Parts: sequence; C-alpha cells; structure tokens
Amino acid sequence: MKRPLVIKFGGTSVGGSAEMVRAANVVAETAQNGPVAVVVSAMAGTTDALLGYADATAGSRTTVGETREETVAELHRTLAERHLRAAREAVSEEHFPEVEERIFSLLERLVEVVEEPSADPSARRDGIAVYGERLSAAILAGAIRSLDIPAAVVSGDPIATNGDFGEAEVLGEETRRRAGEYAWPLLEADSVAVVPGYVGRAPDGSVTTLGRGGSDFSATVLGRALGSSEVWIMSDVEGVLDADPRVVPGATLMPQLSYREATLFATLGAKILHPKTMEPASEAGIEVFVRNSFDPASPGTRISDRGYGEGLRCVALRRDLAIEIPCTQGREQRVASVVCIGMPEDGDLARGTRCLKEAGILPLHAGVSSAGLVFFASNEAGEEALRTLHAALIPAVGTAAEEVA
Ligand code: ADP
Ligand code: ASP
Ligand code: MG
Repeated sequence: MKRPLVIKFGGTSVGGSAEMVRAANVVAETAQNGPVAVVVSAMAGTTDALLGYADATAGSRTTVGETREETVAELHRTLAERHLRAAREAVSEEHFPEVEERIFSLLERLVEVVEEPSADPSARRDGIAVYGERLSAAILAGAIRSLDIPAAVVSGDPIATNGDFGEAEVLGEETRRRAGEYAWPLLEADSVAVVPGYVGRAPDGSVTTLGRGGSDFSATVLGRALGSSEVWIMSDVEGVLDADPRVVPGATLMPQLSYREATLFATLGAKILHPKTMEPASEAGIEVFVRNSFDPASPGTRISDRGYGEGLRCVALRRDLAIEIPCTQGREQRVASVVCIGMPEDGDLARGTRCLKEAGILPLHAGVSSAGLVFFASNEAGEEALRTLHAALIPAVGTAAEEVA
C-alpha cells in the first residue's frame, strides 16, 4: 500500500454543514490518489462548551443556578441540535439514519459520563471533553460516504498516552500498535479512516486528551504511526502567516518553515499549530503542509527539515506572563512578550527598540535570545508592540525568505 496521507481538519473547517461538505470533498478528491486517514477536531466552540458543562456539574450542585438535571438536559439538547442539523445537511438521506443513531448513542454515553461519580476531576473532564471530536468524526465520515467514498470512524482510539489527564504524553510504540489495530484494517479495505483528534488512551484504558488545540499533534502522531510522508493541517487561514492575522492585518504567508522555526513560533505564541506538532514530524521526516480548507488547492505553508531564510522571519505575542522586574523592587508584574524569531542582523535590536518608543510603547526589556529578539511590554501594549515590530523588523514577502528557499 502507498503511504497513507493524514489530513487534519480544525474546528472552523468542520464548523457547520457547509464546512463539513467542503472537508468531505477535499478528502474524496485526495482519496482517489491513495489511502487517507482523516483527523478531525470538534465543531468550533464545542470543546469550550463541554468543558464548561463539565465544570458546572463537577460538584453535587451546579454552579449555574440550575439543577444538575436541568444542566445535563441542556447539554444534551444543545449538542443534539447543533450536530443533528449539521448531519442533516451534510449527509445524504441514505446515510443519515446511521449517523443520527451514532449521534444519539454518543450523547447518551456522554450523559452517563457526566453523571458517573469520578474520583479524579481531571479524568472526568477529559472523559467529557472528547465527545466534541467523537461527534464531528461521525458526521464527517457520513459526509464522505455520501460522496460514494467508503469511510468509517475508527472503532478504538489509536493514540496511546500516559495517564496525565489534561495534556497527556504520547506513547509512540503503543500508538503504532493501536494504529495497526484500529486504522490499518480500514485503510487496507480501501476505506478512509476517520480519527477523532485530541483523544488518547492511557494504559488502564482511561480516556485522555492531548491538551487544548491538540488535534494538530494527533495528526502528526498518527502520521508517524502509519508511516506517512505527508500530513496536511487544514485550517481557516492561508497557512502559517508571519504574525497573528487577527492582530496584524498586514501579516503575510510564510511559504516554507523549518521544524525548528515552526516549533519556536508555536511555543512562543502562534496559535495556528499546537507546539508539539513538529516532534513526531521531525522525528519521522514527515512534511507538514498547513493549508486553507476553504481554498485547498493553494500551496499554503510547507514545514520540513530544511532551514529556511535568513534574518528575522515572524513575530509571536504572548500575554499575561508573570515576571519580576528589578525596577519594581522584585514585585511580580503581568507583561506581554513579543519574540521576533530568526537571525537578527546588526542594528535590528536597536531599530525595534526605537520603533517601539516612537509608537509610544515603553519596552520593559529588549534583548537577544536563541530564538531571535525578545521584547517585553505591558500587557495592554502587547498587540500594538506586535504590529510595530512586525512592521519594523519582518521583511515583506518576496525578500530574504523566498530567495534562500
Ligand atoms: P483550527 O481549529 O483549524 O485548529 P485554530 O483556531 O486553532 O484553528 O488556529 C487557526 C487560527 O490561528 C487562525 O484563524 C488565526 O486567526 C490564528 N493564528 C494565530 N497566529 C497565526 C499565524 N501566525 N498564522 C496563521 N494563523 C494564526
Ligand atoms: N477540540 C480541541 C480544542 O478545542 C482540540 C483541537 O481543536 O485541536 O482544544
Ligand atoms: Mg487549532
């Protein structure tokens, strides 16, 4: 068999019925060329809702002024409504009944998990949180089948982890075995294997999660276990941009990134990828493509082992960092960091500092680190500092980065 391609769809890429159909079309088209495993996130907002309900029902009384029964009924109603609506519109009449039945059986099980007494609150939270992915996987598999492409949700969770609930560590060897047991048989039978992202299984069988945003990591973990050479991360942006587009309107696409650059960028604040995504990819030499699920033919960003670009490449913002600043007599202060990732040239640090001051921002610290240049500013000034440093220090498209690549 050809090496399976892993395609991951994020929450907005399966956020409604139209998006589900679009995602199913991408899979159907790609599946013509070889085996495909799909990793899917929860429909946007579902994980937050599930965790909210998990917390609201954690004690014997709810925290939202309703009885426990009312809260659980509301959870069931909200999730049923949203997922059934998406399924009704994205799945053909022929395949709808099986998807509907699956949605109801998942919701029934979810209510049981919410109501079961649990000694460990974090285990309970994980057990509840994963239902978003389980529900969206059922709908997406139905939507793919509706296009006459065989597709099924894996019957067991392929990713093995330790028991650190909330953000479990992946166990590579055991994941390979589980992927062989649950995903391979589908692929060998020429079916698309649909895998709920974010979910893991501890050695004692408990359900775990890989941490918020962890479906990206699921995708490369699965890719490594299946011997994939490519993983596609489909999101609602063109690819990895050189700054957060919600804060910096002029952010531009980075056509290529090294694993190291991508890891630094994600770790230092870029929300587009889970920080651990590159670990399995770099270990197994898997190329990761970040693409727009609304424009799948566009090239997006390619992440591989090649080092790309000289100079400073991209800027990342983190807020609410607790640091001790000497001028405040060691008192802790909440600040924002902006890291300009890449190799600074002489004069970049001074230019960045000057531009911040000209923009009326007081840099609390400015220095060089192994990642590039690091600036601290007040939390409130963080976004403006990001825009200022992006404009001052990141070369526009068509310069340094592409020439080297
Ligand atoms: P998904 O559900 O597809 O995983 P996320 O919301 O986790 O989507 O990540 C995608 C979002 O990340 C984009 O909509 C974008 O606003 C944001 N983002 C932040 N930084 C960047 C960046 N450097 N490049 C691209 N997108 C970014
Ligand atoms: N649904 C999970 C979350 O919201 C995982 C993911 O989307 O990657 O964190
Ligand atoms: Mg994400």
